[in-house]
Amino acid sequence: MKLKKKSKMLRKQWKKNKDKEYIVGPCKWCEKEIVNTDSFVTFADKTRACIKCYRNSGHMLPFWDKEHSK
Ligand SMILES: [Zn+2]
Repeated sequence: MKLKKKSKMLRKQWKKNKDKEYIVGPCKWCEKEIVNTDSFVTFADKTRACIKCYRNSGHMLPFWDKEHSK
């Protein structure tokens, strides 16, 4: 008996609407305009930051960290 299980992938918000580019807002640190195709994070207070600044800020995304740690 084979059970087909669809694993739920972690949805990365910058991967949806791939064909539609729009500005989601300025980065809270470098104030660069972030487009939806960029890598960015959204905070609970609805501010946004690009991944570069986010990493520079000392915060770490758990999944990001996993992908890039050796
Ligand atoms: Zn930034």
